[in-house]
Amino acid sequence: MEERASIPPGLPRPNPTVSYWQDPPSHLANHRTTPDLPKTTDILVIGSGITGSSLAYNILNQPSPHSVLLLEARTACSGATGRNGGHTKCASYRDILGNVRDLGEEEAAKIMRLQYNTMRAIHAFAREHGIQCDSVQGDTVDVFYDQGQVEKARKAVAEIKRVLGEKDPAARYIFYSAEETEKKFLAQGSLGSLQYEAGSLSAYKFVIGVLDLALKKDLNLQTTTPALKIARNEDCQEGWTVYTPRGEVKVKKLLLATNGYTAHLYPTLQGVIVPLRGHMTAQRPGSGIPKEGLGGTYSFIYDSNYEYMIPRPPGSKFAGDIMIGGGAARAPNEGLFEWGETDDTTTDDFIRSYLEDCTKKYFGTNWGEDDPEGRLRKAWTGVMGFSADGFPLVGQVPGEEDLYIAASFQGNGMVLCFEIARALVAIMNKEDEKELNRWFPKAFRMTSERTKHKFQGKLHSKVSPMDLELKSQG
Ligand SMILES: Cc1cc2nc3c(=O)[nH]c(=O)nc-3n(C[C@H](O)[C@H](O)[C@H](O)COP(=O)(O)OP(=O)(O)OC[C@H]3O[C@@H](n4cnc5c(N)ncnc54)[C@H](O)[C@@H]3O)c2cc1C
Repeated sequence: MEERASIPPGLPRPNPTVSYWQDPPSHLANHRTTPDLPKTTDILVIGSGITGSSLAYNILNQPSPHSVLLLEARTACSGATGRNGGHTKCASYRDILGNVRDLGEEEAAKIMRLQYNTMRAIHAFAREHGIQCDSVQGDTVDVFYDQGQVEKARKAVAEIKRVLGEKDPAARYIFYSAEETEKKFLAQGSLGSLQYEAGSLSAYKFVIGVLDLALKKDLNLQTTTPALKIARNEDCQEGWTVYTPRGEVKVKKLLLATNGYTAHLYPTLQGVIVPLRGHMTAQRPGSGIPKEGLGGTYSFIYDSNYEYMIPRPPGSKFAGDIMIGGGAARAPNEGLFEWGETDDTTTDDFIRSYLEDCTKKYFGTNWGEDDPEGRLRKAWTGVMGFSADGFPLVGQVPGEEDLYIAASFQGNGMVLCFEIARALVAIMNKEDEKELNRWFPKAFRMTSERTKHKFQGKLHSKVSPMDLELKSQG
């Protein structure tokens, strides 16, 4: 793993695979607010995913907004956010036991609440601002194929109910037997399942909506403009210079929302934030899957990892299609080759065909006959960012005045980034720490200790974006 973690991420690659969501591309794909780059700006955000666009929106929404420039290396929202599954799901039960043990009950509860509140906030924001992003709120089901995972889930759910209280909506979890699981969710051959609240949306359309709102508040968005290098201004006391192929920009405050690519601009974080390439497929449903679509979203949990599946809602393009992602843990060497990999211009043959085959395996005879046009509609990849301790890195970069970061969401950004952006703006504005600490987990704060926390050793066999157990060095 050290070897994989030491591969420099480089810049986002030109001509990535086209995700389901980016076809057709949005009206902002190649947007440049001004023909030339401004020479100066108050605040520069690098990266136009959900983190960068939410940061820009939050800054411009303040009573005395600053000039904000947002740079994106490729087209608008072309990183992980534009190529993910769009699953707004906080599977808090997968982390709770470890978090209570390592961080204590209060901080573990803050993490659960932050994820749950972000899940709700993102759908509420889309509704409030009329962002058409196929937003669906409902329930999800985790279908189990491993007895150890069932037992862990039972303990964890009991712990959540104890910590949050039985009546808390975030503690609503319902277990089903194998027979009930097949009847209710059509999945065959399982050991049972667990139902709880979740949702789905097109994160691409959501972010384009957020960018539209920020542009109305005078955001300067410059796509296809990579930041090649950043350097602290030596001539004056404050700020940074950002170098691009289109010239350099002097900025007062610099925000890195570059997720898996961050070490390219700030090499101290090499091995601290490690890219992991993920695969997604869009599949035409079999004849046995209800035409109106499966009722909610799914995860299929096995001993070493899981797949996650989101049916496209009625009224959306290709309604009933099934988006399913994951699969790396089934690949040779548990998919170690995907760590440190930032090539999202291709897909891995093994993982793509595993994902294509697994839908029929999970639903068994309930899948029915394949669509005459074939099962696979599209397959693509995207790059996530993972930290060795499994928590996001949020705050001022230690020892670097005017440089801030929000990155590393462990494949879970849809229930983290939106509210984390709000927290980073509060940190940048030096707002009331007491109020921030009330809801924002300490474990997410950037500290100099965490910049030394590098990936080490072979990955534990139970690696999953939501159940990361790594050997790490402090
Ligand atoms: C295949 C896949 C499926 C996923 N499914 C889910 C899911 O269903 N649910 C969930 O919660 N999470 C999911 N995730 C994770 C989620 O997408 C991420 O956690 C989240 O999108 C991170 O958002 P971000 O804005 O921080 O990063 P990104 O969306 O990656 O944005 C970073 C941006 O920075 C740009 N950039 C980087 N370097 C530079 C530079 N030097 N100059 C200019 N621009 C630069 C990149 O091009 C990119 O657009 C998935 C991820 C992948 C890859």
